[in-house]
Amino acid sequence: YANMVSNVTFLTNVPVKKEGGRLEIFGDGFAEGDRVEMIASQDHNSIYYPTCSLDNGTLMLTMPDNLVDGSYLLVLSRDGVKQELGTVNLSLKASLHTTNVIAHRGYWNTPGASQNSRASLQKAIDLGIYGSECDVWLTTDGVLMVNHDPSFSGTTIQTSTSSTCKALTLGNGESMPTLEDLLKILKASAGNTKLIIEIKSHSSTTNTKKAAKAAVDLVKKYGLQDRVEYIAFSWDACTYIMTLDATAKVAYLNGDKTPQEVKNAGLTGIDYEIAKMTANPGWFDAAHNLGLGVNVWTLRNYNDIIDMINCGADYLTTDMPVDAIRYKRHYDINQ
Ligand code: MG
Repeated sequence: YANMVSNVTFLTNVPVKKEGGRLEIFGDGFAEGDRVEMIASQDHNSIYYPTCSLDNGTLMLTMPDNLVDGSYLLVLSRDGVKQELGTVNLSLKASLHTTNVIAHRGYWNTPGASQNSRASLQKAIDLGIYGSECDVWLTTDGVLMVNHDPSFSGTTIQTSTSSTCKALTLGNGESMPTLEDLLKILKASAGNTKLIIEIKSHSSTTNTKKAAKAAVDLVKKYGLQDRVEYIAFSWDACTYIMTLDATAKVAYLNGDKTPQEVKNAGLTGIDYEIAKMTANPGWFDAAHNLGLGVNVWTLRNYNDIIDMINCGADYLTTDMPVDAIRYKRHYDINQ
């Protein structure tokens, strides 16, 4: 035994495709010709030999067809020298669903970013992920500000002017952005990352709908209809947006409507809290059968990410976008 590789990581407790399933082993020092033995934890006489290939320093294991569900010690083998890499738990599935990643309030838990900041959108775009979510409130002078809570540092956005709100400073030193600021960043970006705009529930349905209209108008002004999606807890706001832009993607957040009700209203998806989807597991298939997308929020640990992909979530809204990307890649290579 010798230490040939270091910083070894790999996903565990994940399914792999039943035939041709794959698992990546990340680390420093993998070399061409490296082999891995998978020693069954329950039965040390059962050793499986996946096919190994090296791709940009990452070792890709392709599972042998006779592999069974279980826990395996992974042992690197190179020229007769061995190194234990760790234990992986794998289950075999005939087919795997894959997913898309949405950074909740942008990619903010990284240096230089704050929730709902310009930086958090730019960093989400830089990850190349499907989407970056933000929350918007309408000021008294009709400007959409980006912030999660109704107020920031004692200033209530919907009863304040935009100039007051723009003078507020986020944790990363930026001023509070307007939705227009974010749309400009989106417009200037080369990729295809979408901005998921949550219309917050204002003090009245009338004001919530005003905010929705302001958002749709601004998105049209920038010609970004195909780069934006809308979400809201307000059913009225969701259905109103569909009347303003029939091609808009709109998903309902509140979790109190069945997929059939959401479909009947002409919305394009459900975007429900994980507890709601766990309580109604049939809603994944029901939504898919109706042609609705399924988004789940807010994922903050590995098990939830794995569970929700396994259940069939098309979109994961998460505070852990970098980790979620890694899981998405695992499911992608097991298609
Ligand atoms: Mg939100």
